[in-house]
Amino acid sequence: MSTTPQSPPPKTLTLTSSTLFLNACNSLSDLSPQNPLPHSFNLLSRHSPLPPIPPNFPQSNLIPKTLFVVDAFRSSGDFSVSYLLSHFHADHYAGLGPNWSRGMIFCSAITARLLVESLKVSPLFVSPLPLNQTVQIDGCEVTLVDANHCPRCRPVPVQGERYVHSGDFRFCDSMKTDPAIVDFVGADGVFLDTTYCNPKFVFPSQDESMRYIVETVERIRDEKEGLGKSVLFLVATYVVGKERILVEIARQCNCLVYVDGRKMEILRALGFGDCGVFTEDASASNVHVIGWNLLGETWPYFRPNFVKMKEIMAERGYSKAVGFVPTGWMYETKRDGFSVRTKDSCEIHLVPYSEHSSYDELREYVKFLRPKRVIPTVGLDVGKLDSKHAVAMQKHFSGLVDEMAIKHEFLMGFHQMTLETDEKDGGLVLMLVQMRK
Ligand SMILES: [Zn+2]
Repeated sequence: MSTTPQSPPPKTLTLTSSTLFLNACNSLSDLSPQNPLPHSFNLLSRHSPLPPIPPNFPQSNLIPKTLFVVDAFRSSGDFSVSYLLSHFHADHYAGLGPNWSRGMIFCSAITARLLVESLKVSPLFVSPLPLNQTVQIDGCEVTLVDANHCPRCRPVPVQGERYVHSGDFRFCDSMKTDPAIVDFVGADGVFLDTTYCNPKFVFPSQDESMRYIVETVERIRDEKEGLGKSVLFLVATYVVGKERILVEIARQCNCLVYVDGRKMEILRALGFGDCGVFTEDASASNVHVIGWNLLGETWPYFRPNFVKMKEIMAERGYSKAVGFVPTGWMYETKRDGFSVRTKDSCEIHLVPYSEHSSYDELREYVKFLRPKRVIPTVGLDVGKLDSKHAVAMQKHFSGLVDEMAIKHEFLMGFHQMTLETDEKDGGLVLMLVQMRK
């Protein structure tokens, strides 16, 4: 027996979706009585059960044996009032807007702020969760961990069984030592961001790509300044994401980065307001952030828009323009990594900078977690786990998942079924159920 005094267990935040949801609906009808409330509100108010989850509901968006729906607001319904949002990218929050009242949205504080400020979702239905801290929701333990993708989170619900939902993510070595993630080695399932789940997807690390941009800026700046030319550097970005590139350019090239008022608003919401990197004064810097498609279309292959680029250069009073387009993966960047397009006094550098994991990184992540199964979340028809495409993707991880555990689980389930149907031995069944936990 240990004689060390036991410190009380740390208090865990405990939340119940249905209670939060009923409160939110009640407040909403106080504020705007004309707003119709969803049927799930009527059912829960009468303590009636919610309807079952429809059989065709995409399995890649549902945590097994729970009512947690992840990144699938378009498929929402009266069957659940517990929704998880992994991060603020349009393909994940699609279906959310000012009229959302279907259920509670659990997400990181940053994502919560963007939902309310940018999408005008009613704050009544948004429930921000802390990062790296386990929270009890509906009897499941949920932990959000940074996924190195964009200012975002990764929900990890648990209930006897343990699941890692990776949202969109870029694997990096530090994840292997993150205690919250290490806890999930041998999980029952990993929902995997399979955007680049094919051996043809090979791209440099984010650090290599960063170095390329910084070195290019410094080299051109030194060359052209000697010739008395004024150079404008343009960095194309989405609404949210790739902020790290901008911060590193500012830090390593010792300059400010110009953004317009709209981008500044987003950056403030993301917590970059006071970092001393961004300015809304165009004359204070020759590194300017511009909208994603202004330097050219990127899909299905890159087509530069030198006309637009020249226009921007002339408008802002420069004699040379150098653009950077940080792309995920493109055929152009495959052969020699970084490719450059030039016309007159304009040049565009295509920089492979992915916020999704490469094929090798996906395999390394799965090998490290050694889960019982991989559940692909990106790709054709992945909602059905037995679809041709999903099965083909899972094959990339055979040998890395714990196949023995699945066989063992299957035999245990079989054994349990026999006991339940033949002997009705309650005691034994209970023991087996505990063992399975
Ligand atoms: Zn994303």
